[in-house]
Amino acid sequence: MPGLSTHALVLRRSDYSDSDRMVTLFTPAHGRIDAITRGCRKPKSPLLNCCEPFVSGEFQLYQRGERFSIEQCQISESFYELRTDYDRLCHGAYWLKLLDAAVMPDVPLPELFLISLRALAHLNYSELPPELLTMAFEMHLMAQLGYAPRVDACQKCGRPIDGDARFDATRSGCVCLNCASDAPRITNGARRILLKLPRTRYDQVKLLDGHPDWPEAARLFRPYVNLRIQVQRFAPPLP
Ligand SMILES: [Zn+2]
Repeated sequence: MPGLSTHALVLRRSDYSDSDRMVTLFTPAHGRIDAITRGCRKPKSPLLNCCEPFVSGEFQLYQRGERFSIEQCQISESFYELRTDYDRLCHGAYWLKLLDAAVMPDVPLPELFLISLRALAHLNYSELPPELLTMAFEMHLMAQLGYAPRVDACQKCGRPIDGDARFDATRSGCVCLNCASDAPRITNGARRILLKLPRTRYDQVKLLDGHPDWPEAARLFRPYVNLRIQVQRFAPPLP
């Protein structure tokens, strides 16, 4: 009965039987793992609290064939504050839906794992607008999945772009103003946010608070996310 000890973030849970739960975990080295937690719905079960979405910690798993079960968990962070603030909870729940749809079994995403925990810590503890934190999470997520849009060169003629342009979600990037396009306009400031934000540490998001162009960047980027990860029905309102 091989064991596996891994850091993990709980993305989702569902009741499985009277006393068991299925839990979807995001792990840095193994991607997504669906695991059963036996007996966790019984009162006084030591595993009851570790089955909740947003919980992160060190999980001891056992594997039998294709199936995993959670044997023990040492919770390191449960992000309690955001779970009790309806507005922030809506944003965090959307992030978990994005991860639930994007993270695959046996595909390691260690950098995205760290970014997710860092972003949740900001959502939980910082005073920054949740709409700003969601935009930054979406941009980092897309970049980590290899979907960063190309915003420094025209997707039609190939010329470098260094100013206002159009953002064409279906072309995965910007189109210059000399090329025909009915995609929405993007100001140079918003375009530079799309270019730079995913290349800096998530914690740098605070530098954008008060920046006049981030709401525009957020509104243009959301349709781009929706095209690639279909969880828009869970998306929180835009700024
Ligand atoms: Zn062009």
